[in-house]
Amino acid sequence: MDLVTTALAGNRRAIARLMTLIENGQEAARNAIAQLYPYTGRAYLIGVTGSPGAGKSTLVSQLARAYRSAERRVGIVAVDPTSPFSGGAILGDRVRMRDLFTDPSVFVRSMASRGNLGGLARATADVVKVLDATGFDPILIETVGTGQAELDIAQLAHTVVVVVAPGMGDDIQAIKAGILEIADVLVVNKSDCTDAERTAAALEMMLELGSGHGARRSALSSDFMRVAADDASQSAAAATDHWHPLLVKTCALVGEGIAELVEAIAHHRQYLETTQELGLRDLTRLVNELERIVRDDLMKALLNGIDQVSLSDLVARVVAREIDPQTAARQLIG
Ligand code: GDP
Repeated sequence: MDLVTTALAGNRRAIARLMTLIENGQEAARNAIAQLYPYTGRAYLIGVTGSPGAGKSTLVSQLARAYRSAERRVGIVAVDPTSPFSGGAILGDRVRMRDLFTDPSVFVRSMASRGNLGGLARATADVVKVLDATGFDPILIETVGTGQAELDIAQLAHTVVVVVAPGMGDDIQAIKAGILEIADVLVVNKSDCTDAERTAAALEMMLELGSGHGARRSALSSDFMRVAADDASQSAAAATDHWHPLLVKTCALVGEGIAELVEAIAHHRQYLETTQELGLRDLTRLVNELERIVRDDLMKALLNGIDQVSLSDLVARVVAREIDPQTAARQLIG
């Protein structure tokens, strides 16, 4: 049996090996994804994002336990763009995750960037596909919410949970990072801390003022692709406007508020399903993914086709103001 067939049969080592192929960007990974793809599109994807230390990992492990007690098979992908480690090193050290690691109905994968955030988004999307195809549902995607790449990763999800902790100035920072705009569910974690009420009240007020949420996820990234999916994306944006992010207070340390969080996520899912936003969100995500791959591959093919000497020559001429960048680019492409 080949690797994909073995993985589809539920073999954990085969699943892990597929993920390693993907992370290493090997050609074999492409073929594997092509084989797996027809089996994807079944899992519900939940993104969990927020500043370092907000309690994302603690919360994710509590969520995983909650879904496990409902007999679900849970996938967890933890993305840490800042970490040089990979393959389980990040979460592996975390004591609170230990019981999840030994549960055969939970699959945990850690991913790190190796210096290429765009590549990380692509690899994460593919690792999620592996979990989806092999029957994990829901899949929790945990990212540190600090930059565009992390927001891209958050966009993989059907429901985005943004975690904020009191007393970190996080309420203000969250808004700065534009992170509130992507929240479907907002969690004020560490509700045992003294500032929790104040933080929750401040965020509640912002939500009432309608800060941000709306244009966001259904937005396609380029004009080219926007044409391809115009009507759908417009109605998606319209539907998204009507969702008011829910605010949930949790104490992930002891599992308080987790049932409410599960409830809020289910509520959002129901909203997506009844407004048909779910299908539109999938469409947006896949169109964006397609575009990203086209862009990456064209770029790669182009650079492969150019010999280094003439590229350096051209760069030198641009630097010397002999030729402008646009003309240089046209020469390269031509
Ligand atoms: P992450 O960096 O966002 O993944 O945060 P972690 O889950 O690693 O948590 C950061 C720290 O906050 C850890 O020491 C946790 O034990 C602690 N923590 C997580 N949730 C809570 C909570 O609800 N209350 C308190 N007091 N501490 C928490």
